[in-house]
Amino acid sequence: MLWDVHPGDIVELRKQHPCGSSQWTVTRIGADIGLKCLGCAHRVMLTRGDFNKRVKKIIARAANAAQAPPAMPEP
Ligand SMILES: [Zn+2]
Repeated sequence: MLWDVHPGDIVELRKQHPCGSSQWTVTRIGADIGLKCLGCAHRVMLTRGDFNKRVKKIIARAANAAQAPPAMPEP
């Protein structure tokens, strides 16, 4: 699964963080993806490959997302 994410999006990872949260904010997009844990504010960097494997679903889109993903129907 290739995830189209933008800074500010909230994603859920397959594996829970030790703090108990499995939700992360996307902080940076590049060759690597920067994530910040919503539970404890811990920051990590994942490669695109790791990120795509670990994400379970996208919880929320950044409110100011400039480029809306085309194939994403509104709930
Ligand atoms: Zn955490």
